Amino acid sequence: MDFKDKVVVITGAARGIGRQIAFDFAKRGAKVALFDLDQEQLESTKKELADITECQAYPVDVTNAQQLADTIDKVIDNFSKIDILVNNAGITKDSLALRLSETDWDKVLEINLKGAFLTSKVVLKKMLKQRSGKIVNISSIIGIVGNPGQSNYSASKAGLIGLTKSLSKEVGPRGINVNAVAPGYIETKMTESLPDKVKEEMLKRISLKRFGSTENVASTVLFLSSELADYITGQVVVVDGGMI
Ligand code: NAP
Repeated sequence: MDFKDKVVVITGAARGIGRQIAFDFAKRGAKVALFDLDQEQLESTKKELADITECQAYPVDVTNAQQLADTIDKVIDNFSKIDILVNNAGITKDSLALRLSETDWDKVLEINLKGAFLTSKVVLKKMLKQRSGKIVNISSIIGIVGNPGQSNYSASKAGLIGLTKSLSKEVGPRGINVNAVAPGYIETKMTESLPDKVKEEMLKRISLKRFGSTENVASTVLFLSSELADYITGQVVVVDGGMI
């Protein structure tokens, strides 16, 4: 897969899966625009990437429509176009539904689902003019099968699948592909705090008997963003080692 001269925007790119996606695109020649809240981590990721490719870091909150519009304008000023968008920014605020506060429900839905909608909306305006583009949304197997204690997260990730499918139908006629990746258990900061007992139980349910790596998710995102996947749209690719 060659992404020479392609411009990629990745949200939540400062660390974890987003950071890995940025590196893997960079290694294959893409120019990368990193979006994240965490300015310090963003700068450190940018520094590492700058040795490999042309890269810019943009502190931006994906729930802020005006900030997104201004930032996408900056990306266009800098790179002239956007070929690929990866909606990766996401959070968890876990609690059983009866104890889950309205604030934690709203926060998770706002970042994970509305954030992807708002970012896609601004980027699509540019892609529609170009009559080409690829969008990949990072969902989760929890959005497909659910999980006790994650009703907010599960609803947001199921919502992302609905968003993916509807958008793919709206923009497909203009040559834009929209797909989702649903990772299982991937070793990142998001999962490191889970109790050992929960991790052991999960491992039992994974056919391949190991947790996933950020590389496993990134390679699927790159495939869906490449010419190899030109005839794939509206799909959800599960990357979970056989867990569901
Ligand atoms: P992570 O290490 O927590 O990274 C998420 C990144 O998103 C962080 O850098 C975070 O910045 C950023 N972010 C949070 N809110 C944001 C906002 N409003 N605007 C911009 N950036 C924001 O998580 P990860 O494990 O890499 O997960 C990445 C994606 O994969 C998420 O959507 C997650 O739901 C999904 N996923 C992960 C797993 C897994 O097992 N790890 C499994 C399935 C799906 P701050 O540090 O400043 O908050």
